[in-house]
Amino acid sequence: MYPWGTNRRINAASNYLKREFGERIQKVALDAGFTCPNRDGTVGTGGCVYCNNDAFNPSYCTPDKSISQQIHEGIEFHEKRYRSAVKYFAYFQAFSNTYGSLEHLQQVYKPALENDNIIGLIVGTRPDCIDEYKLEYFASLAENYYVVIEYGLESVYNSTLEKINRGHTFEQSVRALELTRQFGVKSGAHFIFGLKGETRRQMSDSAKIVSELPLHMVKFHQLQIVRGTQYEREFIEDPHTFNLFSLEEYIDFISEYISCINPSIIIERLAGETQPRNNIGMLWNLRYDQVLKRIETRMEELDLWQGKKYLNNKQNRGKQ
Ligand code: SF4
Repeated sequence: MYPWGTNRRINAASNYLKREFGERIQKVALDAGFTCPNRDGTVGTGGCVYCNNDAFNPSYCTPDKSISQQIHEGIEFHEKRYRSAVKYFAYFQAFSNTYGSLEHLQQVYKPALENDNIIGLIVGTRPDCIDEYKLEYFASLAENYYVVIEYGLESVYNSTLEKINRGHTFEQSVRALELTRQFGVKSGAHFIFGLKGETRRQMSDSAKIVSELPLHMVKFHQLQIVRGTQYEREFIEDPHTFNLFSLEEYIDFISEYISCINPSIIIERLAGETQPRNNIGMLWNLRYDQVLKRIETRMEELDLWQGKKYLNNKQNRGKQ
C-alpha cells in the first residue's frame, strides 16, 4: 500500500476522487465561447504553435449550444458510456475560461452551478488570465463545490515557452499558482513533453521544479502534431526537426519521471489522446487507458512508484 492508500504506483486522480466523494465522478467538457489573449491580439495572434482547441472537444461540446444544453448532452453521453457515473464536474475546457470580466464569468458558470448533477468546477485557463477578484470568487465557490483552476503551464523553461509562442513566462506561471494557493483554491497544471528545442535531459530535470510547485493535481502529455496548427506546417516541411516520443520511449521516460514527482501531487493524466484523424505525428494506436496500463506495468517492472526518487533525493539533500 502506497501513501495515497492504494496499491497503484501513482497517486491517481480517479482513486482520490473516489476517496473524497465515495463514487465515480465524470467530467462534462464545456465550451463557453471564450477566446484566448494569445489569439485575439492582446498577447499574441497566432496562438501556441501546437494548439487547435477543436481537436480536443467532444462532439456535444460546441459554443453555439447553451451551457445547460451542453451539460445535458454531456451527461447523456456519459450515462451511456459509464453506467456508474452519477455526479459530475463541469469542465470548462476550451480556450481560456477566465478570460473576461468577473461578471461575465459569473454568468457563464451559473447554469453549471445550478445543475444538481454538478458538484464541482474545473476551469482551464492561462496563468496570465487570473487575478485576486476572480480568485476571491472561486474561493467562495470552493466552500460548496470542488473547484480546481487548471493552468496550462506546458514547460518550466522560458526558452521553450518563447519558442512555442506561449506569450507568458514561467515566472508568471509561478505567480498565478502562488496567488491561487493564497486564496485557498486548488490548482492544476498541464505540461507537454517533446516540445521542439527542449532536450530529454531538460524534460527529466523539470520534475524537481514541478515537484516544488503548489499543485493539487497535474496532467502530463506527450507532444502530438495536431492538424490545423503551426506545428503541423513545420512537421510537413521537415519532420526531422521534431523529436517525438515513440510509445516505448515515452513509457520508459514517464515511468522514471513520475518516480521523481512529489507524491502529494495527484496525477490526473500521464499521456494525451487526440483523435487519430487529427494527429499527423507519432500515432500510438492505443486508447489512454491502455497507455496508462502499460506505464503502470513498466513502473512495476522497474520497481518505481510516484515519489520514490523524489523522496530519496530529498533525504540526500537533507544530509548534505
Ligand atoms: S493552447 Fe491555450 S493559450 Fe495557447 S493558443 Fe491555444 S487556447 Fe490559447
